[in-house]
Amino acid sequence: MKNGVQGEEYRSSILIIYTGGTIGMKTDEKTGALVPFDFSGIYDEFPSLRRLNVDIDVHTMPKLIDSSNVQPSDWCAIAEVIRCNYERYDGFVILHGTDTMSYTASALSFMLENLAKPVVFTGSQIPIGLLRTDGRENLITAIEVAGARKEGKPMVPEVSLLFHSCLYRGNRTRKVSAEELDAFRSPNYPPLAEVGVKIAYNQANIAQSKDGVEPLRIATLMSEGVAIIKLFPGIGEYTLRAILSVEGLKGVVLETYGAGNAPTAEWFQKLMRETVERGVLVLNVTQCDNGSVEMQLYETGLRLLKAGVLSAYDMTTEAAITKLMYVLGKNLSLEASKELMKRPLRGEFTL
Ligand code: ASP
Repeated sequence: MKNGVQGEEYRSSILIIYTGGTIGMKTDEKTGALVPFDFSGIYDEFPSLRRLNVDIDVHTMPKLIDSSNVQPSDWCAIAEVIRCNYERYDGFVILHGTDTMSYTASALSFMLENLAKPVVFTGSQIPIGLLRTDGRENLITAIEVAGARKEGKPMVPEVSLLFHSCLYRGNRTRKVSAEELDAFRSPNYPPLAEVGVKIAYNQANIAQSKDGVEPLRIATLMSEGVAIIKLFPGIGEYTLRAILSVEGLKGVVLETYGAGNAPTAEWFQKLMRETVERGVLVLNVTQCDNGSVEMQLYETGLRLLKAGVLSAYDMTTEAAITKLMYVLGKNLSLEASKELMKRPLRGEFTL
């Protein structure tokens, strides 16, 4: 089918949203310096893209940034571009710096409510304009994924992240290497697809298409009253108390040890109880690369549970902090916010 006409193959329309990062750099032939690549000339640079069964348009964000400078306002701007173009395109590819790509992919997974189309994040470790770039493969595969359809519906109707040879659920990822081309992992959720000679989709792991159920809505209020605290042996009472008594604090991601364990020292437990009683949402995330928080396993976790600390189960820190920002941004009652934190909203954790 082509745009509803029977007998012809459907041709997907994809919007590439270019935000900056290494993927967008090429060498200036005169000076030898790295300069931004102009993705609007994408077909001239990569004529082979014409062989894909997709039509591609490019939206370049007004200010291209290194992703270390990303702010929630940038997430909102990306969400807004998707909202404005949602009806016109079958899928979206977001070109983003790798450093904070997992934060942005996690944030967008929450902010794009009722998403029924693919939003595929990708980037590269080597600039697209250099000979050995990994950006070319990543870009082409991301476009292919964003345009892939099965039985008339998008194959991957959720926020995903394509890197090297894997497609992951965006809010399950983290950047694990500053060096290797295989730079991302999804420690607690299997890949949505593996890229080899073919792109092998793992259907059972991909969110079901919600096509036509509810219109897309974007949530653009992200709370800034949040913090991440990583425990370490020797963390001081005054330091911790100072962070937890910051004015306007509404939510904390507490990175604990192992299965969600923390010191049993009375000052620590008392501080946690007081913080929770003040109405701050404290979310327990493990420092381990994989596995889940299970606060009832040890006395050191049980005390946190009794203090009213919430389990993040197997969520990444990136998903936990952006979910807190999203949920707290809704200005719901404390109980309603806790309810949203306790259940997976976009497949961000496994109960
Ligand atoms: N610092 C760059 C960024 O995140 C690194 C990259 O794109 O890989 O924007």
